[in-house]
Amino acid sequence: MLEIRDLRKDYGKICALDGLNLTLQPGEILGLVGPNGAGKTTLLKILAGLLRSESGKILIEGKDMARTPSKLREHIGYVPDFFGVYDNLRVEEYMEFYCNANGIYGLLARQKGQELLERVDLLEKKEQPVDSLSRGMKQRLCVARALVSEPAYLVLDEPASGMDPSIRAELKEILQGLSEQGTGVLISSHMLTDLSQYSTSVGLIRKGRIILQGSLEEVILRMSGDRPIVMTV
Ligand code: ATP
Repeated sequence: MLEIRDLRKDYGKICALDGLNLTLQPGEILGLVGPNGAGKTTLLKILAGLLRSESGKILIEGKDMARTPSKLREHIGYVPDFFGVYDNLRVEEYMEFYCNANGIYGLLARQKGQELLERVDLLEKKEQPVDSLSRGMKQRLCVARALVSEPAYLVLDEPASGMDPSIRAELKEILQGLSEQGTGVLISSHMLTDLSQYSTSVGLIRKGRIILQGSLEEVILRMSGDRPIVMTV
């Protein structure tokens, strides 16, 4: 289990995470929903080992990794909201590059790259330049890239935003496949409607804190009567 306890992050005088608590079980697909500035990207970047928190714990199977970003990167794959990809590489070269960066070389890197491309349904695009891929395909490539280290958990920053329904459906299938194999998935969005397709549970984030975490049904029920902080379902 991934357990975040009392996580705090400040940017100068701005408090982005204010004692955030959240749990993610293996196989769970947890939607992280909150408005602009709620702290979603900050949380995901900390989990990805790209930012350091001021204080708090990130426990993976009981071990605190909040102070060791390299350990976080071993256990948590990250799909950013911006797909900054090396456009001059072919898709298979791109995957090999990431395999090499994770200490996998030669034939093993080629095999691993192809296996992951197959998993995200991009194998037939392996000869194409990354640049020529559609936005949805680039996103799937980023999922494949994040899986190179075989992380137990995968975090995705707003994967649904601006995507058309067919692309969302493809991503949903991939994430459900990962979930069935035991990967815990955390996906952020502004809108509950974006995540109702994907997630088995939801955490509402507001001003750097989780104000509600539960099943989609529980959260919708408990939200009614509250002032809406996300779009209605
Ligand atoms: P959005 O949905 O708009 O991306 P978010 O929920 O991802 O928002 P964050 O980007 O994590 O929220 O921002 C949380 C708070 O931290 C906001 O008040 C934001 O202005 C602030 N913040 C984020 N990054 C920085 C930074 N590099 N320097 C200063 N303040 C920052």
